[in-house]
Amino acid sequence: MPCAAVYVDELVYEQLLAVAHRSGGQECCGLLLGRAPDRVEEIMISRNIAEEPERHFEILPQDLIAAEKEMRRGGRLLLGYYHSHPVGEAVPSPTDAVLSAGDGRIWAIIAGATVRLWRNEPGGTLHDMFTEITCHVGVPASDET
Ligand SMILES: [Zn+2]
Repeated sequence: MPCAAVYVDELVYEQLLAVAHRSGGQECCGLLLGRAPDRVEEIMISRNIAEEPERHFEILPQDLIAAEKEMRRGGRLLLGYYHSHPVGEAVPSPTDAVLSAGDGRIWAIIAGATVRLWRNEPGGTLHDMFTEITCHVGVPASDET
């Protein structure tokens, strides 16, 4: 079952803002990893190999393959992907919809000081490929000690 809310560890949230800021006018991108489907615990910073990194992103395929392999071997789950929008809002663009796989994974989009989470809907049409997910910064209450 897809989760309507996802927890993002505070350090991860800060890291997302930092990598987006560092990449300046270019879109940064990478992977969201964790051990439960509703909790992003780590990111894997990838390289944007798109021809126009100012306007588009494409995650280095080797990084995707490595994450898929790790998951198949029982390691961390590949929960989704992140990228930044150097201009505009943290909302999926029409290009994002075209390029998305409809795999049900999470898309984190960073713009300015904001990170928003979206579910890439399986079987969505071009206009409803993404549904926003509530983003909780921190850990689930049951995990707090
Ligand atoms: Zn985008």
